[in-house]
Amino acid sequence: MSLLARPAPRGLLLTLLLMLTACQPAPTQTRIQGKTMGTYYAVTLSDPFPGGEPALQQEVDALLARMNHEISTYDPNSLISRFNQGSGQPPMAIPATMAKIVQQGIDAGHLTKGKLDVTVGPLVNLWGFGPDKRPVKRPSAEQIASARQKVGIDRLTLTPEGDHFLLGKGIPDLYLDLSTLGEGAASDEIAGLLEQKGVHNYLIEVAGAVRSKGNNAKGKPWRVAIVEPSDQPGAFSDVVIPNGMALSTAGSYRNYYELDGQRYSHIIDPASGQPITHKLVSASVITPTALEADALDTALMVMGPEQAMAFAKAHGLAVYLIVKTEQGFAASHTPQFAPYLVAKQP
Ligand code: FAD
Repeated sequence: MSLLARPAPRGLLLTLLLMLTACQPAPTQTRIQGKTMGTYYAVTLSDPFPGGEPALQQEVDALLARMNHEISTYDPNSLISRFNQGSGQPPMAIPATMAKIVQQGIDAGHLTKGKLDVTVGPLVNLWGFGPDKRPVKRPSAEQIASARQKVGIDRLTLTPEGDHFLLGKGIPDLYLDLSTLGEGAASDEIAGLLEQKGVHNYLIEVAGAVRSKGNNAKGKPWRVAIVEPSDQPGAFSDVVIPNGMALSTAGSYRNYYELDGQRYSHIIDPASGQPITHKLVSASVITPTALEADALDTALMVMGPEQAMAFAKAHGLAVYLIVKTEQGFAASHTPQFAPYLVAKQP
């Protein structure tokens, strides 16, 4: 039995920032970067931040530390871990910042008819993609069926109560996993911080979740590349100008492992309880907030190429999909995505 635990390079971008000015940074541009949520972040400003770069770094790091304390299943002392460890009775008080992410998970779960399910954690952990260790063999049908018994968004309750919210569970074993939303939520919160400080020209990236507004230091709109899921470093499929909108990309090609010659992706289809196996390898979504885009990109990845495109068209979404083919990769997009694409040079 071989376990080829290929290290998942989480730090690698699903979207590669193509700040064409980055080769020769303009003097007025400020850039900070660091690690968070098991991945990395970068913030680039072409407006001054009060207190300069040290203050920017300190405030962004404090914001991210607060978010990790709220929603990291990798921290046994976080609010979400305490919720998962508890029986759910009485419901647990959570802050509005965390409730907003939970509510997005519930809403996207309903919209996608359960393709996105933030209670899918027992299956994520069973397949070795959560804080638990990787399995040494494929989980059995009984183990999958048992984990599926613990999954279901309808067993999660969120109720407003004064200035906070109450989070409850219908069964003691319910396990909340907000990993799929954390990066988008972080991008939005950093954008909120910048706006509050009078910064209106910025590019924020937390792994595959990007928020941008205004122009770079050369007075040009920020450009972001959608990476081609090949082994060629730096290969990109297309370039977009998000123009004040958020862009989030999910993929099955970065975070996976191989067991007995079979590749297992970290995206789980809640209906089957198993990692996805179809040919859709990357889904990018443009919406006003990164939280929303981050929820939808994972749901599209669960759907597979045909259903994802049909869903995107039916809901008028700006979506860009990449499918693995015999020849390489094939990209397609909805009409709503077209205005953001930069025309390719002949
Ligand atoms: P996305 O496509 O956005 O999400 C996929 C993830 O969502 C899966 O990995 C799984 O967790 C979950 N998922 C799978 N299928 C579904 C589904 N159908 N519906 C809903 N969710 C699903 N990783 C570490 O290794 N170490 C850490 O210390 C660490 N800390 C973290 C702290 C926080 C606050 C968060 C949010 C995440 C942390 N992670 C950590 C996890 C990791 O960095 C990524 O967030 C995670 O792998 C998914 O992000 P993604 O963008 O790659 O994939």
